[in-house]
Amino acid sequence: MKIAGRIEQLKPYLFVEINKKIAEKKARGEDVISFAIGDPDIPTPAHIIDGLCKAAQDPANHQYPESEGLPELRQAIAAWYQKRFDVTLDPDTEVLPLIGSKEGIGHIAFCFIDPGDIALVPDPAYPVYAIGTQLAGGRPYYMALKESNGFLPELNGIRDYVLEKTKLLWLNYPNNPTGAVAELDFFNRVVEFAGKHEILVCHDGPYSEVAFDGYEPVSLMQAEGAKDVGVEFHSFSKSYNMTGWRIGMVVGNAKAVGALRTLKSNLDSGIPQAIQYMAIEALNGPQDCISEHNNTYQRRRDLIVEVLANIGLEVTLPKAGLYVWAKVPEGYNSVDFTAALIDQIGVAVTPGVGYGRSGEGYVRLSLTIPDAALVKGLSRLSGWRNTRRLTPKR
Ligand SMILES: *Cc1c(COP(=O)(O)O)cnc(C)c1O
Repeated sequence: MKIAGRIEQLKPYLFVEINKKIAEKKARGEDVISFAIGDPDIPTPAHIIDGLCKAAQDPANHQYPESEGLPELRQAIAAWYQKRFDVTLDPDTEVLPLIGSKEGIGHIAFCFIDPGDIALVPDPAYPVYAIGTQLAGGRPYYMALKESNGFLPELNGIRDYVLEKTKLLWLNYPNNPTGAVAELDFFNRVVEFAGKHEILVCHDGPYSEVAFDGYEPVSLMQAEGAKDVGVEFHSFSKSYNMTGWRIGMVVGNAKAVGALRTLKSNLDSGIPQAIQYMAIEALNGPQDCISEHNNTYQRRRDLIVEVLANIGLEVTLPKAGLYVWAKVPEGYNSVDFTAALIDQIGVAVTPGVGYGRSGEGYVRLSLTIPDAALVKGLSRLSGWRNTRRLTPKR
């Protein structure tokens, strides 16, 4: 038996090494407080679960769903975009529910990438943009996200010979892992760039509802002409703490949405209908849960940023998203520093290099850590001292 090259090429997850260190520590009977998990710790709101339970009792929801999703769900998604972003979408042609947004993010490459084609992929980034590209036989071209440019890519620096082969441009704001946000003028420039070079913009926006201090993230779909060149992936996972239920959506350009619908109708048979009703309840029901969750995350953000600054890490206060992106202290790289925290104080963070080369020099701390663990983790972090600072650089 020989595994296909496309699977063999998938590098083992960087976190294998780190997880090994954590496991060793635990085997010695020492606990590790993890700031590394990007999965909301707060349960799905009760009224949304009620929507699931009710729908689960109805035999009509026990059969194969339509792969394009319930019309009621597509209408609820379109109505939500109208209300939240003042964007009008046709629920039949410009909206497609997904089995979690990760599923659509991975699969859309198969609709646009032929062998040898290029996708522009941010670095650092959620790994699926590059992996989908590679599985479809294409090549990722990495766009470094630099702090000096607000962690936005510099599109003008990309050479013509790259752009000639480019089919997709991936973006993600509010950003995982950097915590950066994008404003409408950036999206307007992106739409113009994509139109000029005939590229489909794929914006991944699962954190648009996770924001602090009254800040409201924008949607790519609000940019002038966005629907001509772009789609936006969205998810119920982060807005409504529904990671375990697996439901998301893609909206925007009808041709792109249609291509993904065609691919999916040949691969999967849709999302369990009771879960689609759950998503309808999430969008149409009371929205207080969003600000309640954001208050919790904001409080945790403030505590984490304060402690990190106190022990000498440079960090900016994120306006949105579930992560604090902090510069590692002098004398360390991101993996060294992560290993030192595990060994010395039993705290796990995520090394930035795990999200790409440009993530080197940073670590990511997640705001999804339960409060009891947070208190313990922060007290351990407060006691950490940089013993390498005064030693000469190796
Ligand atoms: C969490 C996350 C997703 C995945 O969302 P699902 O809908 O649960 O698949 C997609 N993109 C980014 C950047 C994420 O952080």
